Amino acid sequence: MGTEGGRPCPQCGQPLTADDRFVVWCAACDWNVRGGNEDDDEHDGRLDALRRRLSRRYGEELFARMTSERPPRPGRGAAYVGAQVIAGLVHLLTLAVAGAGVWLLVTGWRAVVPAVLGVLLLGLAWLMRPRLGRMPRHGVHLRRADAPALYALLDEVADTLGAPRADVVVVHAEFNAWVQAVGLRRRKVLTIGLGLWEVLTPQQRVGLLGHEFGHFVNGDTGQTFVIGSAQRTLAEWYVLLRPQDDTSGLGMIETAARLLMFVPASAVLLLLHVLTHLTLRAGQQAEYLADDLEARIGSTEAAIGGLDVLLLADAVYFWLDQQYVTAGTVHRSTRDAARQPDEAVWERLKEYVASIPAHELERRRRLSVLTAHAEDLTHPPTHLRRAAVERREHHPAAIVLDVARNKEVDAALDPARRTLGREVLRG
Ligand SMILES: [Zn+2]
Ligand SMILES: [Zn+2]
Repeated sequence: MGTEGGRPCPQCGQPLTADDRFVVWCAACDWNVRGGNEDDDEHDGRLDALRRRLSRRYGEELFARMTSERPPRPGRGAAYVGAQVIAGLVHLLTLAVAGAGVWLLVTGWRAVVPAVLGVLLLGLAWLMRPRLGRMPRHGVHLRRADAPALYALLDEVADTLGAPRADVVVVHAEFNAWVQAVGLRRRKVLTIGLGLWEVLTPQQRVGLLGHEFGHFVNGDTGQTFVIGSAQRTLAEWYVLLRPQDDTSGLGMIETAARLLMFVPASAVLLLLHVLTHLTLRAGQQAEYLADDLEARIGSTEAAIGGLDVLLLADAVYFWLDQQYVTAGTVHRSTRDAARQPDEAVWERLKEYVASIPAHELERRRRLSVLTAHAEDLTHPPTHLRRAAVERREHHPAAIVLDVARNKEVDAALDPARRTLGREVLRG
């Protein structure tokens, strides 16, 4: 694991890792495996410790369910159904408010009070309406005509999975990728982050596309729309109903009114918490299912490799930030002397990631196990996702991206590389 030449471990005497660009730690006894990331178990209160324990236990339960003989099918499971029911009720309420507004206007338009009330209710319903989502404004947009080779691959992945094809590809500099459906026509948008795309092997890229289109097959984007818009509606309700902080100088009647509002405001807040909780559970389940499709499309091996790459997220972000800082401090004359095109930053990123030693990747794998409870709540801990892919039936690649085709597909991203390279270097 490249530990030759390291100092002896203060804890067990085995050689430590020797690459001082990264955390120096001991693979034999895990000395300094956290690398200065404080062990939060010791510093948090009892409530946090309980929350962490529950979150870890929930993660393990879900893992067991998703790797069992009969894992829950997409769109099933108590969390899904619960979240759908609550979201449905929220939208029904909006519909009822709108209906009441129309009714008041139709039956009472001659009198002032019902008419005003009717208009108010319609305004309220408009405020609470489900939002369809917009085409992202940022990033480089690639349409079919701009990138035929890329779209040919995307279509092949989509068709193999029985998923809808992408309408627009948005490229940005981040270390991630996702899909969404936007607008009245529910146009399918695939967002690719170059920070991630660049450091994946061709086969891992195919897998990533399988994962993202897998979210369309599993109906996750539709769920996100129904539930996400209900969450937004509840948040709007809360803003309307929430008690003001400053109650000084209020009369008796106003104070009483605010107290009266406290009950519905609390109810809305509680509902919002429940819905968020259920959504996170359903979302974690969806990730396992999308990982499975990732393995089927790109191969099990590529899916595992892709999950390992995810462990490098903060290293990549840190490196990208550094490029901006360095570009800002290098004197203009020296910069001109060694002038490199903006897009070269992505080549350098690849070189950097390739230079990360195996022991650093291993440290991050072990850290993922130790800090599982603290990871991003929308995704299961990476080590569990990896273990799930490994435990399920192994698949060969359904779509193979050979060297020639990879080159062709990748060339479609060159204009984005230039624009986003400039963005990374100049902010
Ligand atoms: Zn040791
Ligand atoms: Zn996903």
